Amino acid sequence: MICFHEINMGVFDSHEAKNWLKQWLAVFTTWTAILPSVKIEAQQLHTYLLRLAANQSPCSLNHGKVTNKSQIGCRFHEIFRDEILLQHKQQPSWRNAPTDTWHNDEFAIAKLFMQPSGYDDKTSFEQVDFNGIAAFIFNCGRFSATTEALSDQTVKYCEIKSSERTTVE
Ligand SMILES: [Zn+2]
Repeated sequence: MICFHEINMGVFDSHEAKNWLKQWLAVFTTWTAILPSVKIEAQQLHTYLLRLAANQSPCSLNHGKVTNKSQIGCRFHEIFRDEILLQHKQQPSWRNAPTDTWHNDEFAIAKLFMQPSGYDDKTSFEQVDFNGIAAFIFNCGRFSATTEALSDQTVKYCEIKSSERTTVE
């Protein structure tokens, strides 16, 4: 945790720099506040997909390229693919996560909801930038029910944080 009482360098004296710092803090605290809920949501989505495919034996094969309609030749993965298509508000980024990661990695599933470039090599939520997290929240249909709860949490978190950092004001 950075202690803002210790920031006393000339660079933060100007009005412009203070505004910039405040904006940066707003983005950072929002991200920190929503990340735990985002992880829980990703876990629940993964558990839900596994339950849908419970009659199939779990498959850890890489079936290569996946598209919205192509035959994967594997019922387990087709159930996953079809449900992700249903939950996704736009077009899944199939190339972000190969099928051999789907059975045991909820983060891989979350990546399918992120932008089509810049995320294929990421292995955890901590490595993902704000845009990626926002895309997951925005594109995943499951979030519509929890978005309100998420923003409540963010507000609470930011209230606590702003009382802690009065010197920035
Ligand atoms: Zn398979």
